[in-house]
Amino acid sequence: MSISPDVSGGPLVLVVEDNERNARLTTEILGGNGYQVVVAAEGRQAIELARTLQPQLILMDVQLPGMDGVAVTRILKRDAETAEVPIIAVTAHAMPEHRKQLIDAGCCSYVSKPISYCQFLGEIQRVLQLQQQPT
Ligand code: MN
Repeated sequence: MSISPDVSGGPLVLVVEDNERNARLTTEILGGNGYQVVVAAEGRQAIELARTLQPQLILMDVQLPGMDGVAVTRILKRDAETAEVPIIAVTAHAMPEHRKQLIDAGCCSYVSKPISYCQFLGEIQRVLQLQQQPT
């Protein structure tokens, strides 16, 4: 895990994921596509890293030990320091009520597990481009 992002590198993505294998896979996919990646394995660490590193994007696993991804998202969105960082939820649940809960918490979108490589990268790119558009 790198915790000193290179300012000359690609966008920094904070990956919140408790499963080591998933975290490694996501890091490989993103790293191979020019992104810088920092991984947090649980909510408290994710909040801490989001505040200190100010990533361009957060990928939030919903099922985490302790505080779940929905609760972590709510905290990040209520904190002025992290409220502007877009959060994409990564969830194994595709039920409409569940999706609504994620959006209500402040996630801008979601991708389903198991992740599809193309869809995953496409969604990250789409969200980052939205952020860059002048308002
Ligand atoms: Mn998980």
